[in-house]
Parts: sequence; structure tokens; C-alpha cells
Amino acid sequence: MKHILIIYTGGTIGMVRTPNGYAPQDGYFRAALGAIPALASDEMPRWELYEMSPLLDSSNMTVNEWNKIARLIADNYDAYDGFVVLHGTDTMAYTASALSFMLDGLDKPVVLTGSQIPLCELRSDGRDNIITSILIAAGDRIHEVCLYFGGSLLRGNRATKYSADGLIAFVSPNYPPLAEAGITIRYNDAALLPRNGGELKLRLLENVPIGVIKVFPGIQFSLFESIMTEKLRGIVIETFGAGNIPGNGDALLPIIRRAFENGTVLTVCSQCPQGAVSLGAYETSSALKQAGAVSGLDITTEAAVAKLYYLFSCGYDKETVKREMERSLRGEMTT
Ligand code: ASP
Repeated sequence: MKHILIIYTGGTIGMVRTPNGYAPQDGYFRAALGAIPALASDEMPRWELYEMSPLLDSSNMTVNEWNKIARLIADNYDAYDGFVVLHGTDTMAYTASALSFMLDGLDKPVVLTGSQIPLCELRSDGRDNIITSILIAAGDRIHEVCLYFGGSLLRGNRATKYSADGLIAFVSPNYPPLAEAGITIRYNDAALLPRNGGELKLRLLENVPIGVIKVFPGIQFSLFESIMTEKLRGIVIETFGAGNIPGNGDALLPIIRRAFENGTVLTVCSQCPQGAVSLGAYETSSALKQAGAVSGLDITTEAAVAKLYYLFSCGYDKETVKREMERSLRGEMTT
């Protein structure tokens, strides 16, 4: 019988009502799982629960928690057939992306899930999300980090939170779902990463100073000059459309130059969820290209941030980081 480790990190799924709104509560979640009869069914794989401490609203996730989760998976890798990580939805796509990079050589399923409505409420979507995630984690089809929510299994580093209140909270705008759970779970074989066959190598992350800038009409780039110090190792710039910035780059150029003098890696993403950055396609993006910015192609901002953390934590020099940012490492971008 398959054996699954459920790692509960916090998030809405296990929250309870408090005078200040929903919040996680120590010791409550195990009882909440015990109240789901399907989890005790003979048809379910064997599972065990590990509750992280402190339990977090995922807005409070940091690199330290990513390290704890990844280490837990690596330490228990041989003892379990698959892993389900229960996580708040707000930063689930960041954590899924980070884990995908940190768990190099992963062969077993790691499925992140959570819910929009807590298990303590009548209409909770958490029950199906947990049950289906455990079944997926107990299958033999998945060899990567993925995110299951609202009937769809998505590649973790392709997912993005799309709805603050809908039960289909995540989308994968630039990559097809890995599976759809209807009456049966239908896998999209062509979309799955193949079996790896190698050894799992854990890469813990360092809290590398990186930043994200979202451009908007009228942006005063000079205001951002002060953050462009040599301390800033990487920056993701969320541009318009296919990589365009206002003012033909004139206003931004001194800042980009400063970033490059300081050795900061600048990665260009798009504010459009769908489609890819194409630097130089318009005059308004050629300044970025000339200044040596890296094209994030169709990567999500979440995955770009996680990838920068990862590459710098590998100890690579700036040129290697730039090269790797434009290459798909775990299926996170279409090259
Ligand atoms: N604030 C919650 C969290 O991300 C939202 C959720 O889980 O849906 O932890």
C-alpha cells in the first residue's frame, strides 16, 4: 500500500474563526482531518500528518519555511511514495515554484493544495482538494512538484493565483494542466515531466536580496534608483505586453545601467498572464535588451522570483545566472 506524507504548513484550509478573522490554530488540524470519513476509507493510501510550527498564513512564508518544507521532503524521501503539502493559497504558487527548483532530480509526486473555504465551514472546498491530492500523490504518473486545486492539476512553477474568492483559484496560462479530475482523474501524458531516474539533490535557499518592480503609466523610475545598490542581486521587472517599458527606456536606462554596474541580474517578465516576452520586438523594449536584461519569456513572476533565489543560492556568478534564467530547468518556461 502506498504511503503518503501530508505536510501541513497553515493556510485557510485549517484555519478557524477568531475575533481578528480566520487564523491557524495549533492542534486543530489533525482533528479536522479525523472528521473527514473518506480519509479513513480502505480505498485511501496510508498517510501520516506532519504539522509545521508555527502554522502560517501563507502571506508570512519566507525562504526559511521553503527550506523547512524542502528539507522535510528530502529527509523523508525514501520512506514515502508521495508528498502532499497543505498551504495557504496566497503564496502557494511561489512555494510550488521554489520547491520545484530546490528538489533537483525529484521522481516522486509533490502536490501542493489548500482551500478557499476552511474545513471548519460547511461549503469547504478543502475536502475534495485534500482527497484528490492524496490520490494523485499515491499514483505513479507524477515526477514533479505540482499544484492541485478546484479539479485541475497544474505544474507548480507554471501556476498563478487567479481568484481571491473563486473555488478555481489557480490557472496555468502558459502550460496545459497536467491532469483534470472529473469523474476520473485524466492525466495529460504529453504535458508530464518524465521519470528522472537520478538521485534527489536538495538545494537549500539563501535569503538573497532580490526585488520586483511593476511598471505603470507615469512611473517615475528615479524613485527606484535608491534601491539599485550593489546589495540587490536580482530584480524582476513586470513590463507591459511583450516586454515594453514607458518612455523608450530613457528614464529607466540610467537605473538599468546602475543595476548592471552593480552586477544585478534584471529579468523581464510580462504583466500579461498569457504569452511571452520578446525583447526588441518593439522600440519600447529594445533599451532593456541593449542593456543586457534577461528575457523571462513566458515564466510567471512567482517562478522568476523563486528561480533567482535558487540560482544565486547555487553560488553561480552573474553570467551563469543570466544564462540559466533563459533556460528551462524544471519546465518553468517555454524556450
Ligand atoms: N491568507 C490565506 C493564506 O494564504 C489564504 C488562503 O489560504 O486561501 O494562507
